[in-house]
Amino acid sequence: MKARVFSGVQPTGNLHIGNYLGALKNWVKIQFDFESIFCIVDLHAVTVYQTPSELRAKIEEIAALFLAAGIDPKHSAIMVQSSVPAHAELAWMLTCVTPVGWLERMTQYKAKSAAQETVGDGLLQYPVLMAADILLYQAAIVPVGDDQSQHLELARDIAQRFNSLYGETFVMPETRLPTVGARVMGLDDPEKKMSKSATGSGHAVALLDPPDQLKKKIMRATTDSNPAVDFETMGPGVANLLSIFQAFGEWPDDRMKAHFSGMRYGDLKKQVAEMVSESLKPLQERYRQILAEPGYLQGVLRAGAELVAPIANSTVELVKERMGLYTAR
Ligand code: ATP
Ligand code: MG
Repeated sequence: MKARVFSGVQPTGNLHIGNYLGALKNWVKIQFDFESIFCIVDLHAVTVYQTPSELRAKIEEIAALFLAAGIDPKHSAIMVQSSVPAHAELAWMLTCVTPVGWLERMTQYKAKSAAQETVGDGLLQYPVLMAADILLYQAAIVPVGDDQSQHLELARDIAQRFNSLYGETFVMPETRLPTVGARVMGLDDPEKKMSKSATGSGHAVALLDPPDQLKKKIMRATTDSNPAVDFETMGPGVANLLSIFQAFGEWPDDRMKAHFSGMRYGDLKKQVAEMVSESLKPLQERYRQILAEPGYLQGVLRAGAELVAPIANSTVELVKERMGLYTAR
C-alpha cells in the first residue's frame, strides 16, 4: 500500500507564486508516488471573516487551479474540507487534548490576531483543525511551505499526546518542504513572506496575473543598493528573485551562479519575469479550459469527497472508541 499524502490551501485571496512553489508544484511532482488528497480548506478560511458569495466562488477557483497546475483527479482526490464533516468532528476531539499554551505560541496566530479588532476563537484553534485534517487520513507526508513547519510540529505533538493518553492511534506525519522556493518573500517587502491575505498591489504575483501585469510587479520588486548580482553580499530582495527563478527553472546552484553573477538588477528582473510568465502560461491556459467545461469541476469535487469520506469516518470511529465516546459498534 502506498503511503498517504495530505495538503491544503485556503480559499482566500489570489493564489500566488509562493503557494505554487511552496506547495502545488511539489504536489504535482509527488502525487503518483503516494495516495494523495488535496484539500480546499474552507473551514480554515472562515477563521477570519469572508464575504459568503466570494468565499463560495473562491472554492471553485482554487479547485480549478489545482487541476490547472497538474493535479490528476483520476489519481488524486481533490476535495473541499467542509464537505467531509469528520474534519470538524475530529478537530473537537483533538481540541480537548491540546493545551492552550501550545496554541498561543504559534507565530501565525500572533501575526493574524494582531491584525484583527476582535480575535475569533477559530484563529487560535486553527492548528488543531489543521492537525485533524492530516491525522484524519493517517497521512505520512505533508508537502507544505516553510511557514507551516511550526503547525506541522504541533500536529505531531497533538498526535503524540493523543497516542500516549489513549493508545497508538495516529500515524506521525512528516513535513515535506521543497528544496528551493519553500519561503517566497513579498516583492514589495522581502522581509515578509508572500501571502494571499497581504494587501498592496506590488506584494505578490498571482498565478492568474496576465503577463504584462506580472512583469510590471517583478520590475518594481525591492532590491538593495548594489547595482548588480553579487552572491556574497546580496540582500533578501535579490536572493528572493533568484530563488523564484531557480525554483521555476529548476536550475542547479552552479548554473545559477555562472549565469547571474555580475548581472545588473534590471536585466535580472527581466529574466525572472520572463521565466515566471513562460512557466505560468500553460497553467493559465488549462485554467480557462477547465472553467469552460460546465459541471466538470463540481463533479471532481463530489468524487473527491466521496472517495475520502470513508477513510475519514473510520478514523473518527476509531478515535471515538479510544476515547470511550458512544459508537454504534
Ligand atoms: P493566507 O495569507 O490567507 O494565510 P497564504 O498565502 O499563507 O494565505 P495558505 O492557504 O495559508 O496561503 O497556504 C497554502 C500553502 O502555501 C501552504 O502549504 C503554505 O505553506 C504555502 N505557502 C504560503 N505562502 C508561501 C510562501 N510565501 N512561500 C512558500 N510557500 C507558501
Ligand atoms: Mg497562510
